[in-house]
Amino acid sequence: VIPNGSTGLCGVRYNNEGKLYLLVYGKTASFNVDPVEKKPLFHFLPGAKVTSIGTLGCNFHCLFCQNWQISQPPREIKEQEKNPEKQLEKINKTIDSMSQDLSPADIVSFTAENKLPAISYTYNEPAIFFEYAFDTIMLGKKQGIKSIFVSNGYESIEAIDLLEKNLDAINIDLKSFNEKFYKEICGAKLENVLEGIKYAFKKNIWIEITTLVIPKHNDSKEELKSIAEFIASIDKNIPWHITAFFPEYKMLDVDSTSREKLFEAYNIGKEAGLNYVYVGNILSEEKENTYCPKCNSLLVKRIYYDIEVKHLDLKTGRCKECNEKIPGVWV
Ligand SMILES: [Zn+2]
Repeated sequence: VIPNGSTGLCGVRYNNEGKLYLLVYGKTASFNVDPVEKKPLFHFLPGAKVTSIGTLGCNFHCLFCQNWQISQPPREIKEQEKNPEKQLEKINKTIDSMSQDLSPADIVSFTAENKLPAISYTYNEPAIFFEYAFDTIMLGKKQGIKSIFVSNGYESIEAIDLLEKNLDAINIDLKSFNEKFYKEICGAKLENVLEGIKYAFKKNIWIEITTLVIPKHNDSKEELKSIAEFIASIDKNIPWHITAFFPEYKMLDVDSTSREKLFEAYNIGKEAGLNYVYVGNILSEEKENTYCPKCNSLLVKRIYYDIEVKHLDLKTGRCKECNEKIPGVWV
């Protein structure tokens, strides 16, 4: 519960006399056109470029955050400034100085004018700026523009219900399978993330999962196996992205992930029965490609963001060789 005259944990949602205000509504802190593979989404319009936006603020404070410059400032202000009025003033000032004013209509127009097929709500947690994202999603939908969330999995049941028929894809980070990791490193709860993943899947939102493999923090065979088996227990067709960590933010003393470790995780995913396992953030010798689980034909070839659709029929979403249905959003 956010007390009157305060912001919540993320620092961007403010209670004014019982009414909640989203301080970052219409204020985009990061705006780019990215390959959809960067999200990462590999079973969604291969090779597409998508409008990508994020705001300030986050409900997590991951010590390894790659976007800490935008995700953490409101929380840091809250830690440093305890006077509620001054706190609000400082947060608003920081939002204004670090963001550009973009209405949902502005974002949709940009996307339509540039003939981009989708808008991705990314960089920080989109649940944080849900009202802003949702209005943009609904406006974009009228013009046939698809939408993507890149999320930490902390959407509420109510939020996912709203997204059910409106969001086209979500990539959720499953950062660890350890309660302690989520608590100490992210300031969050594992259980909520697992519930978020299960519920988004249940609501038929196309879902892919990402695990950033951090040496000595979440890279034991047992933990990787638990993650892979959890995903497989929901559906073996959910793609699992295993990505390499590079020292960032408050984890500068941790080594980058080795190629061997990522390949080990890849094998663990395959052994758990997952049909689509991908290694990212390094040149992975064909472990970024999509292969048909039935006949092993090369369906989509990827070298970083160089994408070549091979034996996948995008119109039908089937393998051209054996007609196997390949799950995803292909057109
Ligand atoms: Zn096939």
